[in-house]
Amino acid sequence: MNRRTALFPGSFDPITLGHCDIVERALPLFDKIIIGIGENPLKAYMFTLDRRLAWVRQTFALQTQVEVVSYMGLTVAFAERIGARFILRGLRNPADFEFEKAIAHTNRELSQRIEMVFLLTSSGKSYISSSIVRDVIRNGGDHKAFVPPSVKLAE
Ligand code: ADP
Repeated sequence: MNRRTALFPGSFDPITLGHCDIVERALPLFDKIIIGIGENPLKAYMFTLDRRLAWVRQTFALQTQVEVVSYMGLTVAFAERIGARFILRGLRNPADFEFEKAIAHTNRELSQRIEMVFLLTSSGKSYISSSIVRDVIRNGGDHKAFVPPSVKLAE
């Protein structure tokens, strides 16, 4: 297959403007970006898979290059199953880099066919994380400045 397909995996609990920044900047690099929303039974999510999926789907509804799916299990195995040769991740800071480096080396052991691709966040978005957004929501703050308009809490 010649098409350049990238898997962008994550929890998206919830999707933030940081995620959007990475996807938008990756669009010119790939023919297709498949956003894979992880469902890890050992992780306690704030939002159900259905809501996380719906919000990401609505965010990119007009973007024909982007597809949104959920998956369980190893990310590299999923990437191979869907024919993605690249796994896209965002880097915000040195902590992200150290974490991603270990994962990238592990993935390389598991599959030599998949290449990891990292993009640095735009400076104005690098402080945004789903975990901080969850804290803002938990404590009754206004989360709207950090997430795309599709993230609506009262549904
Ligand atoms: P995970 O639980 O796999 O880290 P996340 O949904 O938190 O899932 O993140 C998915 C991807 O998006 C990761 O590569 C993460 O670094 C990236 N990301 C999240 N927030 C930002 C941001 N503000 N800027 C750049 N990348 C980000």
